[in-house]
Amino acid sequence: MNTPLMQQYHSIKRHYENAILLFRMGDFYETFNDDAIKISKELDITLTSRDKNKDNTPLAGFPYHAMDTYLPKLLGAGLTVAIAEQIEDPKLAKGVVERKVVQVITPGTVYHSNVLKQDKGNYMVALWENKNNFGLVVLEFSTGELLVTEISGWENTLNEINKFNPSEIVVSDKQIFNFPTTYIVHPVAEREFFANNDYRLETKFRVHNVNGLGLTDYPLVQKSLSALLKYIEENQFLLPSHLQTPRVYNIYDTMILDSQTVNNLELNTRLFETLNETQTGMGARLLRYSILNPLLNHKEILERQQRVKYFVNNFEKLNIAELLKRVSDIERLFGRIGMYRATPRDVSALGMGLSLVVDINSTCKNYPDAMSPKIVAEITKVTELIKNTLIDIPPANINGGRYIKPDADPEVKRLSDIILNSSLFLKNYEKEEQARTGISSLKVTFNKVWGYYLEVTNTHLEKIPSDYVHKQTLTNATRFITSTLKEFENDIFSAEEKIVIKEREIFNKLLTDIINYKKAIKEAIKYISFLDLYNSFSLVATKRGYTCPKVSAMTEGKKLLNIKNGRHPVLDLTLGSSFIPNSTTITEQSFVHIITGPNMSGKSTYIRQVALISLLAQMGSFVPADECELTVVDRIFTRIGAGDDISSGRSTFMVEMSEVSTILRNATEFSLLILDEIGRGTSTYDGLSIAWAVTEHIAQKINARTLFATHYHELTDLSDIYSSISNYNVLVKEDETERKVVFLHSIGKGSASKSYGVHVADMAGLPSKVITRAKEVLSNFEKESIIKPIRPNIKSETKDNSQQQSLFSGVSDERIKQYENLRAMLSEVSLDETTPLKALSILSEIIKRVK
Ligand code: ATP
Repeated sequence: MNTPLMQQYHSIKRHYENAILLFRMGDFYETFNDDAIKISKELDITLTSRDKNKDNTPLAGFPYHAMDTYLPKLLGAGLTVAIAEQIEDPKLAKGVVERKVVQVITPGTVYHSNVLKQDKGNYMVALWENKNNFGLVVLEFSTGELLVTEISGWENTLNEINKFNPSEIVVSDKQIFNFPTTYIVHPVAEREFFANNDYRLETKFRVHNVNGLGLTDYPLVQKSLSALLKYIEENQFLLPSHLQTPRVYNIYDTMILDSQTVNNLELNTRLFETLNETQTGMGARLLRYSILNPLLNHKEILERQQRVKYFVNNFEKLNIAELLKRVSDIERLFGRIGMYRATPRDVSALGMGLSLVVDINSTCKNYPDAMSPKIVAEITKVTELIKNTLIDIPPANINGGRYIKPDADPEVKRLSDIILNSSLFLKNYEKEEQARTGISSLKVTFNKVWGYYLEVTNTHLEKIPSDYVHKQTLTNATRFITSTLKEFENDIFSAEEKIVIKEREIFNKLLTDIINYKKAIKEAIKYISFLDLYNSFSLVATKRGYTCPKVSAMTEGKKLLNIKNGRHPVLDLTLGSSFIPNSTTITEQSFVHIITGPNMSGKSTYIRQVALISLLAQMGSFVPADECELTVVDRIFTRIGAGDDISSGRSTFMVEMSEVSTILRNATEFSLLILDEIGRGTSTYDGLSIAWAVTEHIAQKINARTLFATHYHELTDLSDIYSSISNYNVLVKEDETERKVVFLHSIGKGSASKSYGVHVADMAGLPSKVITRAKEVLSNFEKESIIKPIRPNIKSETKDNSQQQSLFSGVSDERIKQYENLRAMLSEVSLDETTPLKALSILSEIIKRVK
């Protein structure tokens, strides 16, 4: 129906096509058409129509006071919500009440604690590209944390974005990026990346000149940042003051982990869950960040170890976890304060959290990162301020009742006294006036029409003081008003109204006062986040018997990775004592380990375990091993299993080869390569040849520490040729009577003698007829050597140590002799003296020899 109201609705909705428009109508928020269909599903509320006979426009809504219940559900479903309020008093409106959108909440600008995950940052990202260089801005809106960087190349940029798993991405409508389809991308007009760039940044971050932001060398970041600020301003209708000054970082400052590695090693999921003994949301988010950004600087690693040791050594004495548990998420609370969207309960929780932080700081004596007395003094001022302003348990909703302490402000005191003591006041006043006038029958009363008055019987009229003002005459009595009573009447009528406004005013001032302590509060947040992280490392270490690894710098030149009785952190926890520890000895001389063994024997577990122990060590954590010695790893690469990447139209084998190509192009001698089979997605000969060549390239050219688990037994021959390559295998015991193999999960030197593939198939329950036939076929293959026809006949006499291999490395001596004879023959040919007939005879000789 095209009523004026619906015309107004459509004119607003037109600007918010991609959002759910919550349209305030009296006491309800209503939605129409597709929005109504969507929200009725998400919120499980009835879908109706305005008037079943005349207008069947779908409609769904909820009462305005249920906003806190329903909004989180809509945001939780990843929807953007625009809220249109009535912005004039309906009583005064001529025609349709004026309405306006007052806030748009997008997935990246959610600040509601019941939508956000405590242990995860909710990031939004803005990106600008120029000649394959990218200006990346990452914002965690709920805390205001702003990270910025410039990155060269799309691959690195996407890896970095994936680490944050953003809930929203802002790009120019003129630039197209190949993001995963799950990401929500908002194209905005290109001009926003340019328009008023400097001015926008200067005003937002209150710097005189944009150079003051330290972004002079980051022109691409300036563009992304400017567009992101504009985007937020448009949705919030203001630029929230909690956004922090951008912090420039460099992706090369910490270990680069590509998305495959993050997924393959289950860093963001199982490893995080296994390691998470943090007690606060801040600690948990920092742990997640630390897992995805292991350190490279060995000094920083040692510094972290020192802090973990502090808690390991004081574990029983301090029991810090108990105190930490009670600290609320002061980082996000402070974020909401900065947005002026905090509730009184939020502020009170911030106060309590901060005073606990001060307690923890005094409990942790000699902790290397203790807060300075100056910061403690500032924080104490904030907590006092909050304690003196707010009542002890204020409401969780700003409209939920009184929350300012009456003693905090004389006006609030007066107003709340009026409300609380109105009847007492009237009684006292009555007594006072009786005494003053000597009229004991004088009464103070109230009625709806006349309000408050003093009533005196007419016999006492001559005693009335001059300040009594006549109000009404009755048959036997007269009613008066005084200025005191008038004032009281005014006060009591408007006290409720006034106190709401006054409390709001004091509360907003309190928020501003708290924001002025931003620097100290940020310090306290940083202090407690790291303390929680180190304490979590220490809890894991103490409970699960982790030890402190000995980490040395890359500059020391060596490339060690020695682990004594290492355990896989996740399986160690789930399997407990039945997990079999394994040792690893990677040295300068032997750094490529080829690991063979049957399916299900534990190869993958073992090689992942080594990667995870290295990663833990570089996070500054203790590690699940009896001893560990590690030279810093600059990057961990993994190639583990692969599925078809249907969305990009790449087959399993193509995906696998692209991963191998990334590794070979980017790995350095300080990288750690974890390869779980290469070349299985194609024919045996192709696959084996590729695996062979890749391993040679790693051993000779890259020189990286490498663990390669494979079913290609042929690869174990490489150890005869290259001294840097060694063979290991997972031990098994054959139990012939029971026709099965027992996996010992223990790594030993040397190569596996058999594959046991058919045994494993048997254990997996393949029909016995198929198993019997498979055994028959296998034994025929083995007899006829079809299985191993291609053992490359390329042994070299001398085990190489040198990086430089001869052209003929890996080729048999007899063949080398033949090549050399041929070369000698050709070198004697002089073309000037060769007739066509002679040339033909030389050609025929070459063909004969080659054949
Ligand atoms: P495939 O070649 O089929 O990929 P695999 O040799 O890589 O197999 P894993 O996947 O590593 O084998 O291990 C198989 C199972 O064996 C694991 O899920 C785990 O339950 C168990 N396992 C592996 N290593 C150990 C260990 N060290 N101690 C105890 N159990 C282990």
